[in-house]
Amino acid sequence: MTTFDEKLVSVLGKKSADALEAGLGLATVGELLRHYPRRYDERGKLTEIAKLEMGEHVTVQARVKSARQRRMKSRSGELLEAVITDGTSDLHLVFFGRGSRKIERELLPGREAMFAGKVGMFNGKLQLAHPDYQVLDGEDENAADFAGAFIPVYPAAQGIQSWNVSNCVEQVLAVWDGVTEDPLPESLRAARGLIPLEKALRDIHRPDGWAAITVAQQRLKWDEAMAVQLALAQRRRSATARPAPACPPRSGLVRDAFEARLPFKLTAGQSEVGEQIAQDLSGEHPMNRLLQGEVGSGKTIVALRAMLQVVDAGRQAAMLAPTEVLAAQHARSLRELLGDLGQAGELGGAEHATRVTLLTGSMGAPARKRALLEIVSGEAGIVVGTHALIQDKVEFADLGLVVVDEQHRFGVEQRAALSGRAGGSTPHVLVMTATPIPRTVAMTVYGDLEVSALRELPQGRSPISTSVVPVASKPGWLDRAWQRIHEEVRKGHQVYVVCPRIGDGESEDSGSAEPPKEDGSDRRPPLAVVDVANRLAEGPLRGLRIDILHGRMPADDKDAVMRAFAANEVQVLVATTVVEVGVNVPNATVMVIMDADRFGVSQLHQLRGRVGRGSAPGLCLLVTEMPDGTSTMERLRAVESTLDGFELAQLDLELRREGDILGAAQSGRRSGLKMLSLLRDEDVIAEARVVAQEVVEADPELAAHPGLAGLVAGLLDDERAEYLEKA
Ligand code: ADP
Ligand code: MG
Repeated sequence: MTTFDEKLVSVLGKKSADALEAGLGLATVGELLRHYPRRYDERGKLTEIAKLEMGEHVTVQARVKSARQRRMKSRSGELLEAVITDGTSDLHLVFFGRGSRKIERELLPGREAMFAGKVGMFNGKLQLAHPDYQVLDGEDENAADFAGAFIPVYPAAQGIQSWNVSNCVEQVLAVWDGVTEDPLPESLRAARGLIPLEKALRDIHRPDGWAAITVAQQRLKWDEAMAVQLALAQRRRSATARPAPACPPRSGLVRDAFEARLPFKLTAGQSEVGEQIAQDLSGEHPMNRLLQGEVGSGKTIVALRAMLQVVDAGRQAAMLAPTEVLAAQHARSLRELLGDLGQAGELGGAEHATRVTLLTGSMGAPARKRALLEIVSGEAGIVVGTHALIQDKVEFADLGLVVVDEQHRFGVEQRAALSGRAGGSTPHVLVMTATPIPRTVAMTVYGDLEVSALRELPQGRSPISTSVVPVASKPGWLDRAWQRIHEEVRKGHQVYVVCPRIGDGESEDSGSAEPPKEDGSDRRPPLAVVDVANRLAEGPLRGLRIDILHGRMPADDKDAVMRAFAANEVQVLVATTVVEVGVNVPNATVMVIMDADRFGVSQLHQLRGRVGRGSAPGLCLLVTEMPDGTSTMERLRAVESTLDGFELAQLDLELRREGDILGAAQSGRRSGLKMLSLLRDEDVIAEARVVAQEVVEADPELAAHPGLAGLVAGLLDDERAEYLEKA
């Protein structure tokens, strides 16, 4: 009896089971069988080397071109250098030490083999240091493992290669008893032409042709799509079933007064979304709305109008920002926008005025105490802070609305933490993001939110032009860039220089640059704010007023620097991605992003939105040492060529998926869907959404659908749950 739940150790023995568990986190038969091949190689069809991504663990089928022993210059000992090829591009291998004689005998020129390791760069060439390999032809005894036409290539890891996984799967399939009850109801399978789960799992690991693979994948995608959509449908159902503090609009109070003095006319989008939100806030059940709008599209006004409606209803609104810098800035700009309408209790405060209170973790004790008092007494109509505001269980008098600016780091978990905060009811939530979200992502990751968008920018925006500065091929361009900065500053403008790292000697905070790649070999560490600022001050930007900003500075310092920058006392701000979101200094016209290749597409787009916010046009320079022709460079070229955030978001998705198909990102530890592609499976996702909604409406607890309930449970306690939690 070998079932899904059986521990691998009883089937495979301790050694293999331990390796699977340690390397890939697979402990049961079910987990191994759900560990699908990343791709299939046909024997003799070589992997495209040019498309390999730096820093990724890859499995490559290639032909040996040369293998040569040599003595190391600096160290004593032996070194074997080999070159493998796909017929077009080469990849360099290097092996150190004793085994290299044997390796030289095995890696004969002309032989084909699978190689696995982490892609690095050495002397400007792609390299695998110490790869594992398995020869596919010749007399190698293991060659028999690859006798079939298809070689499944599995997500692998250090110490457990694709071919090891394949062997384990083989052994498990031989004794597996199969699936007793298919999780997808027969009616659903029949209507969509989906094959039974057992057949799908056997075929996915041991296909007899491409057709079998496609059919198996389709079935397995449905499992995943249904699990996600059922979970979301249940979540939507329970979220909207909860009571919320109703805040119907009231006339003649702060919101009306504020609107009467708005210095501009709302865009059509702002009014439309505003009306929708006003209606949501009036309701007895919590609003859960996501507002997407490009950088500069004017989301803050939309949020403020919503918050004022809540204040007029006698309740409080909280605005959460991802960093303290942003929180402080929001508090400042909300106070400015409100003027005397935000000065309740102060001299000169308007009639009905409210108060904006800032609360951050690093405030001094007396200030913090005062803020907490204002919040619990209800004096503070609008409370601005970081996400800690929610997690720290700060006590509100009557919290009606939570606005979350820049959603990246705010997930379902935090939203869940809100329930019960408003005296037994759940506050309304408005999440705002400047990162455009492709439809499939909206239907999955944000599938429990209503989505609205601001698609137009207010009048009077200046265009941003973007250029890649390829230091490798055009070394002179960087000097030109610094001259350009002098010119801008002479015109009275200001400049951001963004670096991926802080560099103050302490261990770096994660999340400063994305994607976080650990590159092997000789790739130097990312440029650091502190070093770059020093070098610029002594070199190309001598004479300019330069300062730095990063997440680990004390809050007061950060605040002081932001003020100084806003007042043009600082001309060049060298910073980490703390400037990524929401920072608004319209006089800044140039952004130079150092080591731009270390950032993701959407992140670069986000960053450059910091310039061109005033009447002068903005310029964004993407500085990189990456050579042309790499996929990293392609990514930068894409950012250079379009300002359409939706297009870039789609591209981000595509590039990540491409990485998967190529066997890059083969760690298998990534959370996320295994089979379902947010890029290609829009139809499955959309259909599953409809089916799931129907099922949950008729049977909210899935009592009559044990198979489906099992899928959802599997999703929720699986690491894949992370996929939903993390937004
Ligand atoms: P974001 O969507 O990036 O948060 P903001 O809310 O910070 O954008 O708005 C950017 C700038 O545009 C602000 O200075 C804001 O006052 C201004 N703004 C917002 N709405 C309008 C409008 N309808 N017309 C003109 N300017 C506007
Ligand atoms: Mg904003």
